[in-house]
Amino acid sequence: MMSRMKLALAVTCTAIALSATAQAQQPPTATTKVDGTDNVYIFRYMGHQSMFVVTPDGVIATDPISERRPVKPYVDAIQAITKAPIKYVIYSHMHFDHIAGGKPFKDMGATFVAQRNMKARLDELKPADVVMPDEWVDDKKTITLGGTSLELTYVGKNHSDSTLVMRLPRERVLFTVDWIPLQAVQFRGMADTYVPDIEEGLKKVIAMDFDKLIPGHPGPGGRQIGSKEDAVAQLDYLQDLSAAVKKAVSEGKSYADAEKEIKLPKYEKWGGYEAFLPMNIERYYDYWNRGI
Ligand SMILES: [Zn+2]
Repeated sequence: MMSRMKLALAVTCTAIALSATAQAQQPPTATTKVDGTDNVYIFRYMGHQSMFVVTPDGVIATDPISERRPVKPYVDAIQAITKAPIKYVIYSHMHFDHIAGGKPFKDMGATFVAQRNMKARLDELKPADVVMPDEWVDDKKTITLGGTSLELTYVGKNHSDSTLVMRLPRERVLFTVDWIPLQAVQFRGMADTYVPDIEEGLKKVIAMDFDKLIPGHPGPGGRQIGSKEDAVAQLDYLQDLSAAVKKAVSEGKSYADAEKEIKLPKYEKWGGYEAFLPMNIERYYDYWNRGI
């Protein structure tokens, strides 16, 4: 039999666990229809998300987002909405946490499309769980299916050298992954990111015609859809970061001092601010100090 103290402790721990669960836990997967459209959906799997478009002639899916998890829930989510065939899978960029696991789509006959710069890295690494694309995009390609057009544009190097910007002109929706986060600084040390090309790419996106911006991860509070304002805010952030680091380098500050002293308080509420701002500073420090 439990002592009174042990019982009290067990009850307290359960209460804490339950309240933490209620706040933090959401179902591992969810499908959300994009407001203002009748054919555009977001499939979320844990902290990753992809857009898919339903047409009378079939489905255009994007990133399998398996991250080495089973990909079947994504197929099931699409088939819960339509039994039309999944005709395309478009890769957002060459990072396995977004593009691994496409085999179930391939087995169903989908055509895989990606930006051509991805090919060299895939040939080199030969990841067993990434389906090799069937069709390549250089600068631009438009996929048309069942009356819907999806425009795929390469705006240059940013968070990878193979990122596509996917735009639905009629629906005024844009999907692009990992380089325009919603109210968040860049991920960790900006691995694979090209500086300052990413800033030029943001200017090109801001000049495009769209209302809704879907990123590859929800933002703070679980926000799944942003707008052009988020792209403008991200460009502001990178330009502010760049200017602050340039100044620190010109004053002869060390990496450590730059990372400690640069605060950019305007962005202190953003996701990743505490953990990743110093790492973002290091990336720009290398650019200004060593030209890399
Ligand atoms: Zn990425």
